[in-house]
Formats: sequence, C-alpha cells, structure tokens
Amino acid sequence: MSFATFYQRSIDDPSAFWREQARRIDWHHPFSQVLDDSRPPFAKWFVGGTTNLCHNAVDRWVGTRGEQPALIAISTETNTEKTYSFRELQDEVIRTAAIMQSLGVGRGDRVLIYMPMIAEATFAMLACARIGAIHSVVFGGFASNSLASRIDDAQPVLIVSADAGSRGGKVVPYKGLLDDAIKLAQHKPAHVLLVDRGLAPMEMVAGRDVDYAEHRRLHIDAKVPVVWLESNEASYILYTSGTTGKPKGVQRDVGGYAVALATSMDAIFCGKPGGTYFCTSDIGWVVGHSYIVYGPLIAGMATVLYEGLPIRPDAGIWWSIVEKYKVTRMFSAPTAIRVLKKQPPELMKKYDLSSLQALYLAGEPLDETTSSWISEALGVPIVDNYWQTESGWPILTIAKNIEDKPCKLGSPGVPMYGYKVRLLNEATGALCGANEKGVVVIEGPLPPGCMQTIYGDDRRFVDTYWTTQSPESGRPMYSTFDWGIRDDDGYYFILGRTDDVINVAGHRLGTREIEESISSHPNVSEVAVVGVEDKLKGQVAVAFVIPKVADNTTKGRATLEAEIMRVVDKQIGSVGRPARVYVVGLLPKTRSGKLLRRSIQAICEGRDPGDLTTIEDPSSLQQIKDALRG
Ligand code: ATP
Ligand code: MG
Repeated sequence: MSFATFYQRSIDDPSAFWREQARRIDWHHPFSQVLDDSRPPFAKWFVGGTTNLCHNAVDRWVGTRGEQPALIAISTETNTEKTYSFRELQDEVIRTAAIMQSLGVGRGDRVLIYMPMIAEATFAMLACARIGAIHSVVFGGFASNSLASRIDDAQPVLIVSADAGSRGGKVVPYKGLLDDAIKLAQHKPAHVLLVDRGLAPMEMVAGRDVDYAEHRRLHIDAKVPVVWLESNEASYILYTSGTTGKPKGVQRDVGGYAVALATSMDAIFCGKPGGTYFCTSDIGWVVGHSYIVYGPLIAGMATVLYEGLPIRPDAGIWWSIVEKYKVTRMFSAPTAIRVLKKQPPELMKKYDLSSLQALYLAGEPLDETTSSWISEALGVPIVDNYWQTESGWPILTIAKNIEDKPCKLGSPGVPMYGYKVRLLNEATGALCGANEKGVVVIEGPLPPGCMQTIYGDDRRFVDTYWTTQSPESGRPMYSTFDWGIRDDDGYYFILGRTDDVINVAGHRLGTREIEESISSHPNVSEVAVVGVEDKLKGQVAVAFVIPKVADNTTKGRATLEAEIMRVVDKQIGSVGRPARVYVVGLLPKTRSGKLLRRSIQAICEGRDPGDLTTIEDPSSLQQIKDALRG
C-alpha cells in the first residue's frame, strides 16, 4: 500500500482505521466505540474497552518468548550489565507491584519516580501500569526545586527513588535532593521506596522510607494480577521539557497509547519481535517512555536501558553495544550526535554494525551537516522525526515500513497517519498553501496516544492548545507552537518555535532559518540565534556561535563575524543578517538538549533569564553575558 492511501484512510475513516490497528494489542474486554468525539477538544479512544499496558508489554510475551531478552540494562557508570528475559522482567515487575500495593498504592493513585537509568526504574513504571497507578517520572537530573513543584502537582502517594545516580563517573546523590524536595513541597508522600545502589549514604526516615531490596525479598513469590483498566483511564503524567516556560503536566490514557505505540513500532520503526531496540534517551523524557520502555516491549523486542555518557569510556561505547547485542533499530537526538561528531571517527569503524538498519533522531532540528555526517559514518538511513511530549509518538516523519519514501535533508518528513497537520497564517487565520510559512497546527480530534489533558487542569489544556479553529471545518485545532513550511511534495520543514519568530522591520523570520544558514559556514559547530529589541527595526537577529576551531584574537572574531554575515546575506537576505555574531564555548540548553533561546534573549535584553530549573549547565549563561560585555 502506498503511504498516501494508508494516510488517507486514517483521515477519511478514523474509526475503521484505528479499529484495525487496535488488533495489534490484547484487549481484556472489547471496546464498544472506537472514537467518542462528542466533547471536543477532548477525544476518547476505544471507549468501554479494557486493557493494560504492562500486560501488553510483558505478560503477553511470556508464553511465546519467555526466555527471550526483554530488558538489557547497561551502566558504564557502575560497570554493570544485566539482561532480563520477558519471564524475569515479569517476575521483577510483579514483586515491585506487590511492594507498591503493600504500601497502599491503588488504582488511580500517583507514584512519582525519581530515578537514574537502572532496571528498577523500568520495573517501577511497569508495576504502576500493572496495578493501575499513575506514574509521574521526573528526570533524575532535576534538583529539589523542580522536583518539589512536580510533587505538588502530582500529589503522589509513593515516591520511588535511589541513593544516587552517576554521571561521567561522578556520583550524584539523589536521596538528599529528594528529602529537600519533600521538605519544600506542600504535599507529603506517605512512603518513599529506595533502591540502595551502594553509591551514596542514605538517611532513612523512620515510618516513611522503605528499602527496596528488603521488601523485594518479602514479596519474592508474590502474585499480582493485572488490573484491567478502561481505555481512557490515565496511565501517566509527564511534564514537558520546559524550554518555553513552565512545564505542562501531560496526561495520557491506556488503550489509545498502547495502540498508537504498537502501530508506530511497526509502521515507523519497522520493529520485529525478537529484534533489539536501543534508544539513548532517558526515562525522564517522553522518548524514554514511548521508545525505551513501552514501545519496544509492546512490539516484543528487547530494549536497551543505558546509563552513562556517549563518550565514556570512549566514543565507541554505543557502537560496542550495537555489536554485542545486535541492535537492529536505534533512536537518539541530534545533540548527542553532535557530541560524537567532535570525537575521533575511528572509534565507530572498530565495531561490526551490520545488525543496525536505521537510526531515528528527534527532539530538536536536525541540521544537514550532522545528518550527513552520521549517515555516512554508519552507512544506514537517518530518519528524522518530529513530535512532542504532548503527542507521545511522531507527528512528522517517514513511515518506512508502509512505504520507503525518500527522506529530504532538513525535513522530518510528512504528516503521520491520524494527524491532520495544517499550517496556519497567524495574522490572517487562513490556512497556508505550499511554500508559505505558518504555525504547525493539527485539526482535532488528535489520534490515539496523544495527551488527554493537562493533569488536573482541563481549562489550561483548552486555553493553552486549542485557541484556533479550522477555517475549513470550523473544528478546534491543536497548536504545536512550532513554526513550519510545506514544500510542493508535502514535506514539512520546522522553522523554530513560535516564541522564536522574530520581526525585523515587518519581516517575520524563524530564528531556525537563520541558524540553519549560519551552520553552513564551515567553521561553525553550533549556533543559537535570538531576536533582540531594536529601536529602529523592532527586532534584530543576534547570533551566538561555537566555532569548530576558535581564533580568539579580535581579528579572528571579526573575520568570522563578517563571513557569517555574508553567508546569511547570500542565503536569506540582509533582513536576516545578525546585527552581531558572538563567539562562545557553550550554549545554554535544557537537560534534554534543547536550546534555551528565551534565556539567551532575556540576557541580551537585560532581563531576568527566567525559570532555570531545567538548564543543563548554568555557566553557559555567564558565557553569554561575557560575550556581550567583551
Ligand atoms: P515546553 O513545551 O515545556 O516549552 P519542549 O517543547 O521543549 O518544552 P518537548 O515536548 O520535549 O518539550 O519538545 C517538543 C519540541 O521539540 C517540539 O515542539 C519542537 O519544538 C522540538 N522538536 C522535536 N523534534 C523535532 C524535530 N525532529 N525537528 C525540529 N524540532 C523538533
Ligand atoms: Mg513544547
């Protein structure tokens, strides 16, 4: 079937399309209605059906693939490696579920998971799914303040954590941060379940804190049946990365998510039972939820859980994992590939990568240089995919297993089945034609797997995302807050976030367009462009670049600045030419690798850089200040 036919069916008759896809998972009780769209923008999928994510990810495979690897937990931080078969994974999940029940966790209760990338984190997520508790995984790199605000939002009965994480060989004690966060929070969890890795001392709070190993022993032979949940009950809460401001608590369902993941694992990721999937993200992000934990397991694949840096002990570590575990599909982010690109290329050639069939990249714009470099080095197709915490699975990409359409450099691809993607002209409210820039919107209802609401705040969900209507159908449209363009072949290009659009003397430009142009200069390694207030023009572009080879003399900088201005002049025109180009050694990014343009812009305009709880390295802000001053 051509992708066009596949896609069109999903749009013309979503109920028939998704009814068919729903056969990919096990249902305990069949659904009576595929889609209930009677209260837009709230969509309900597979109404009346009961199912369970843990059953579909684990139990379902135990009969036929019980001894096959399911979870491969590797840590180059503690030099440990352990493979769990589907049967062993089931045993561990049941033990964890039994502990949770013994601590009073029941259906609909929230469990906050603040953990490093260790097997127990996966057990905890799946255990929640098994008993119908709602997990809220908080990225282990966050400190007390960020954690406290998420504790207050989710109001967990139980928090699952560990003594410590480890990053680049440095122990990061979690327990102290967690205790501080609980002190800061209004809400107090009844219990804290702690995995002791023996990395850092822990002070246990009597009556509240519980040791995981000890309680695992108590429940070693436990039997905990799957709790069958109505498809639209909540499975988890996950906060967006906070790149543009206060994170939003995305709430997802059970049945729609399971079906969406199962379909994407086949249609987009070509996942085959028995294969091995290696996603280098973190369980604290949506990519980790969908494509480390649930997606691969639902597809009957082994999934690699990796704790460590991509360049330790050396930049060959990922490729040694690919060789050893015969990884078939890999998923990462452009930011990680840029890190590898700075390392000696021989390390990649050392390993047998013949099992690997494709590398998927998402999370931020994939620039052409990075994409070409990694594609050449690996000799496999690179598949860019664009989506959000809110969507749970790709919105734009190429569905390789439906039709192997060519990728276009710089474009994540075409709208995926189920997504009625449109571009909206913000000024006129009209839909854009080909080659016309606009805001990327999706006409409701959103397909299965997408967010149901913002946890505990339906109003904020509607007011944040659903403020526009389709001029064609009058239906509410979901805004992605990204800005894009579609070419004559229907391929989309993401031009940046709507926050990042700048207005230079009446011309609207995406900062990403200017960045892409600057990246084509041979000596530019990374770049951030922001719009800065200007009395004459309204706004002007200002660029911060990390050069590949830094010439820190005044003359060297001036030459690079002039060259970059010329590149932009030639490719975009003088409206996009940055008023200044500053050289820095580091750019401010979130812990998930996204550029914090709003903070850079604030500093340029002499304002407060805003909420910095999600920043990776605060010293990057000082570099911006120093560059502006010097
Ligand atoms: P917040 O919504 O809290 O500001 P965030 O948008 O960074 O945070 P995520 O949901 O993790 O949180 O990121 C989704 C965003 O990442 C997209 O809206 C888009 O801006 C960007 N993005 C993701 N994948 C791609 C891609 N392949 N190409 C371009 N941009 C991408
Ligand atoms: Mg966002």
